[in-house]
Amino acid sequence: MSDQSLQRFQVFINGQWRNPRSDKWIESVNPATEEAWCEVPNCQEDDVNDAVAAAVSALNGPWAQFSPVERGRVLTRLAEAIPDHADRLAELEVSDSGKNMTESRNFMKFCAGFFKFFGEMADKSTGSTFVTPFPGIQTYTHRVPVGVVAAVIPWNNPLWLLSIKLGPALAGGNTCIIKPSELCATPLLEIVKIMHEVADIPDGVVNILTGEGDPCGRVLTSHPDVSKVAFTGGPETARHIVRNTANNLAETTLELGGKSPMIVFDDADMDNAVQNIIAGVFAGSSGQSCVAGSRAFVQRGIYDAFVSNLVKAAEALKVGDPLSSESQMGPLASLAQIERCENAVSDALDSGAKLRTGGKRPDYLKKGWYFEPTILEIEDHDIDIAQTELFGPVLVIMPFDNEQEVVKLANDTNFGLAAGFFTTNLGRALRLTKSVRAGIQWVNTYRLGAPMAPIGGFGDSGKSREGGLEAMHEYTKPVTVWINTNI
Ligand code: NAD
Repeated sequence: MSDQSLQRFQVFINGQWRNPRSDKWIESVNPATEEAWCEVPNCQEDDVNDAVAAAVSALNGPWAQFSPVERGRVLTRLAEAIPDHADRLAELEVSDSGKNMTESRNFMKFCAGFFKFFGEMADKSTGSTFVTPFPGIQTYTHRVPVGVVAAVIPWNNPLWLLSIKLGPALAGGNTCIIKPSELCATPLLEIVKIMHEVADIPDGVVNILTGEGDPCGRVLTSHPDVSKVAFTGGPETARHIVRNTANNLAETTLELGGKSPMIVFDDADMDNAVQNIIAGVFAGSSGQSCVAGSRAFVQRGIYDAFVSNLVKAAEALKVGDPLSSESQMGPLASLAQIERCENAVSDALDSGAKLRTGGKRPDYLKKGWYFEPTILEIEDHDIDIAQTELFGPVLVIMPFDNEQEVVKLANDTNFGLAAGFFTTNLGRALRLTKSVRAGIQWVNTYRLGAPMAPIGGFGDSGKSREGGLEAMHEYTKPVTVWINTNI
C-alpha cells in the first residue's frame, strides 16, 4: 500500500513531468531514520516504451541540428548551475542513501567538474584521413552519435556516475534515458529538473525513468531502439545486462565492483598509509564505494605496529547522523547491506579470521542502518570475506613477506578495479603498477580522481573506460567516407 502523505516525485519523459501510467510507486526509506520519506514512480513497460520513443524521435529532431559547440554549452550551463543547487542535491542524496553530507557536498564539485569537462570536449572530436592504394580517392573518418543511450546508475554516488555518462553522451550528440537505482533516485530527478530549467535542450533528449531493476531496467536495456547501455553496478546485474543486450545488440559500458588491495611495504610512511587506508575503506561512504580498499597487505616487519595503529584510527572514527559535520561515517544504504556485512563477519570468524575491531551495529545508535568500522585479520586469502565485495565498512588485513608473494595475493580475486601501493622505493612502485591487475592505481595516496583521467577495471570489475578523452570515443562511432575526386 502506498502512503499518500509522502511527498511524490514524478518522472520526466519527452519534456513533461508525469506520474507512472500504472500509478505504482516505490517508497524511499531514509537509512538514518529507517522511515519512508518520499515516493518515486515505479515505471513499467509502457513508461519505458514512451521514454524510448521520445529519445528516438529527439535524435532526429532539432537536437541533430545543435552544433558540437552548442551541445557543449548545454553541459557547461548545467555545470555552472550545480553550485547554486548543491545543498538541495546533497540533501536528497543523503536522505535516500545515508551518504555523509560532507562527502556528498564534495562530490557535487566533482560532478560539476565532469559536466564542465565534457562540455569542453564536445567540439574536440576528430577523425582521421588515410592514404589508400587508389589514385584520386580521398578517404577519411568522422564521428557520429551512437544513438539512444540508457544510463543505468547504482545508489552510491549517483550524481557523479551520471555526469560521466550523460556528459559524453550529450557531448557526442546522443539522446539519453536515465534509470536511477530504486534506492537513490531523487537526486537524479532533481538534476534533470535543473538541467531542464537552465540548459535549454529539446524535448526527449534527456528522459528519466525510476523503477525496479526488473521490469524497468530489464525492458529498457533490452529495448530494440536502445543502441548503448552505460551501466554502473554489481557484477551479477552486469550479467543480466549483457543477456538483455543480446536482444538489441546494444553496446555496453560496464563499470562494476571491486575488492581492491592496499599494499604497505616496510619502507612506507606509516601515518600516510594508515590515513589512506582508513579514508579508502571507511570514511565518507562507509565502504560503499566501488574503489573501497577492502583488502590490506602489510609487510611482516611492520605488521603488528601497523595493525595496532590502524585499529586505533578506525576506533576514533565518528559514526552517526550523516547530516552532522562531526560524523565521518553514516549509515549503510539498506538493511540488506547491514545483514550482508553481519553474515560475512560471522562466516569469516567461523573460517578462522580474528576480529580486531567492529563487526556489529553500534550499541549507542538506536535507529538507522549503521555498522561499525570493522577490521579482521586473516591468514587464508581464499575465504569468502577476502574474495567477495561487501560494499560495507569491512577491511581484511594479512601480512606478507616479499613483493612476489604480495603481487600474487593482490591479483587473487575475480576483480581488478583499483589498488593502492605504499612504499618509498620508486622502482618497486613502478614494478607494481605493471604487475598488479587493476584499472586505477594510486601510489602513496588513494581515491584521487579528475575528469581527464579514465576509470575502469578488468574481469568482474567491468570493461571499457569512463572519464577522459577515451569516454568520448565510447559515445561516438567513426564513419568511413570514400570520395572519388576523379569525376
Ligand atoms: P546493482 O547492480 O544492484 O544496481 C545497479 C542498477 O541496475 C540499478 O539502477 C538497478 O535498478 C539496475 N538493475 C538491476 N537489475 C537489473 C536488470 N535485470 N536489468 C537492468 N537493470 C537492472 O548495484 P547497486 O547495488 O545499486 O550498486 C552497488 C554496486 O555498484 C557495487 O558492486 C559497486 O561496486 C558498483 N559500483 C561500481 C562503480 C564503478 O565505477 N566501477 C561505481 C559505483 C558503484
